[in-house]
Amino acid sequence: MIREIPRVGVYVCHCGANIAAKVDVEEVARFASKLDFVESARDYKFMCSDPGQQLVVDDIREKGLNRIVVASCSPRMHEKTFRKACQKAGLNPYYFQMACIREHDAWVTEDPGEATDKAKELVQGAVSRVLHHESLVPRTVDINPNVLVIGGGIAGMQAALTIADAGKTVYLVEREPCIGGNMAKFDKTFPTLDCAACILTPKMVAVGQHENIELLTYSEVVDVEGFVGNFKATVRKKPRYVDMDKCTGCGVCNEKCPAKAISEFDQGLSKRKAIYSPFPQAVPNTPVIDRDMCIYFKKGKCRACEKFCEADAIDFDQQEEKITLDVGAIIVATGFKPFDPSVAERYGYGKYPEVYTSLEFERVNNATGPTEGQIRLKDGRVPETMAIIHCVGSRDKNHNAYCSRVCCMYSMKYAHLIREKTGANVYEFYIDIRSPGKGYEEFYNRVQSEGVQFIRGNVAGVTDKAIGEDEKGKLIVLAEDSLSGRFLRVPVDAVVLSVGLEAAEGAEAVARMVGISQDQDGWFNELHPKLAPQATPSDGIFLAGCCQGPKDIPDTVSTANGAAAEALSLIMREKVEVEAAVSSIDAERCMGCRQCETICMFDAIEYDSALNVCVVNEAICKGCGLCASTCPNKAIGVRHFGNEQILSEMEGVML
Ligand SMILES: Cc1cc2nc3c(=O)[nH]c(=O)nc-3n(C[C@H](O)[C@H](O)[C@H](O)COP(=O)(O)OP(=O)(O)OC[C@H]3O[C@@H](n4cnc5c(N)ncnc54)[C@H](O)[C@@H]3O)c2cc1C
Repeated sequence: MIREIPRVGVYVCHCGANIAAKVDVEEVARFASKLDFVESARDYKFMCSDPGQQLVVDDIREKGLNRIVVASCSPRMHEKTFRKACQKAGLNPYYFQMACIREHDAWVTEDPGEATDKAKELVQGAVSRVLHHESLVPRTVDINPNVLVIGGGIAGMQAALTIADAGKTVYLVEREPCIGGNMAKFDKTFPTLDCAACILTPKMVAVGQHENIELLTYSEVVDVEGFVGNFKATVRKKPRYVDMDKCTGCGVCNEKCPAKAISEFDQGLSKRKAIYSPFPQAVPNTPVIDRDMCIYFKKGKCRACEKFCEADAIDFDQQEEKITLDVGAIIVATGFKPFDPSVAERYGYGKYPEVYTSLEFERVNNATGPTEGQIRLKDGRVPETMAIIHCVGSRDKNHNAYCSRVCCMYSMKYAHLIREKTGANVYEFYIDIRSPGKGYEEFYNRVQSEGVQFIRGNVAGVTDKAIGEDEKGKLIVLAEDSLSGRFLRVPVDAVVLSVGLEAAEGAEAVARMVGISQDQDGWFNELHPKLAPQATPSDGIFLAGCCQGPKDIPDTVSTANGAAAEALSLIMREKVEVEAAVSSIDAERCMGCRQCETICMFDAIEYDSALNVCVVNEAICKGCGLCASTCPNKAIGVRHFGNEQILSEMEGVML
């Protein structure tokens, strides 16, 4: 094979003072200019700027450079930028190599002399490597224009509506009988105190009626195959035992059903029937039969719902169904679950009936909830004093170390509502008040001016062991007041625990299914927390709402629109380029052991049983190299990361 003589251009970036304050960039450029095959070496203030990129383009054209090295930040930041510059000048983008002298050097090395030496080594390694690069051609694949949204809370609904309004088909899959998520349980929302139903119901109706949205409730995605632009999702539709086409939502079945069960929607504070809709404004308004509680399913007789259904919609023979959806992009919007305070026994949850979680208290406050919105003690009395305890399960190294972001604000919402509805004295036990949103600090001031008492300090526990007359028949909150340095016993009639937010039930399975990762707390990881907050490392998979971390409703809606915009910008392209630096398997050497298939976290390897070899699906492969390092027969190589390329880089660094 005749190889052209390499003519390398090296560019050392100052990155303002980020690199130049530590690394003598001019010295590094001088050093690079003396390396074998280097035609030109320069330093420049900002290589990623337009003039910086133009330097590369002009030099390729004018000096006939055929290999480029840029020594600057991490490839994650700007590899694509410089590859594009090469391409613009007519050079194959894979004839480019980056030396990371910012994150790997300037930012982490104290001594300027050492930092400069290290930069030289990194540049030498990059030059040595780029000599062994090969020209690769990225492939393009067609994109299916449909989008799948998993989770029908406010995030999923908003994302679905934005995409559907742009004229694209959306499949919205929600595992509960209806959409709405946690927001559907709220009465009022902070800081404006507008009624949650008034802003949510129109959205739910719009989703239900949108001609471009196919709503699949009481359904779960159980498998996702494929790759960006071409996913195949399998959805399991659980039987409702009610024909959605025939049901008119009249509610007679619910009235006539003799079987009762705990209402999950009311957080266990009320009962529902065995045939039920979670709440009156549910979308869709078709009830489901809870098989475990239905007398007919348990004992073989009853069928009262069927008897009274004029629409003939009850269908006890309905079976689970599996359907397959072809989509180009997937938005994950699976939300959160509240922290379970029964694991933190000191708060007395589950022991004292007057200790509520925040979501329970949302239902108590709600006009359609178990008390029709009235705040009453279990014996019907109006409470005279109430405590709200912040950070239950959050900012606590025994449970979750992170701040759940919304609890301070919803706690103050409760304080306001309690004062408004009952006139009771309210004590808020907090660690710090976090109110950094539009109108949030103002709301904090308002609640303070309404006479709510804020006590700063950790709560040691809640007890009913009275030691004085004033404590008899009360719950006593034991807390430190860190501002006065005193230890307090505060007798109250009821306690609300402001529980934190945790990743939704089943988040791990969803992550595995769509090929994304979770952080140490279970929240889904974004591609980049600042620059690509809705994208994930899996192309074509986007995140919306609380599934990536606690958020209030405004932030949830913004991220949902962000995810929708990303999905739209992908599917509108009609074709997508897939990475060329991927694995390839030498069929001659492969012995079909399938270890690579097991280890691949992107499901990019398939086994061809006829030939007893494994095959890489290049459109899915991310070129991570796990398979290559696992293969016992060295049958797998990763393009652009071949042995010659990696070893020559190491040699260069160590010369
Ligand atoms: C007690 C409390 C009070 C709050 N009050 C306010 C307030 O007043 N103002 C405010 O701005 N914010 C408030 N928030 C925050 C608000 O609840 C969130 O911002 C919002 O609910 C996030 O919406 P989401 O769609 O991301 O998640 P969720 O509401 O959790 O919705 C997620 C949906 O996904 C579904 N799902 C989960 N997994 C799957 C799966 N595998 N397949 C299919 N479907 C799935 C769930 O069933 C659910 O319907 C409060 C939070 C709490 C806990």
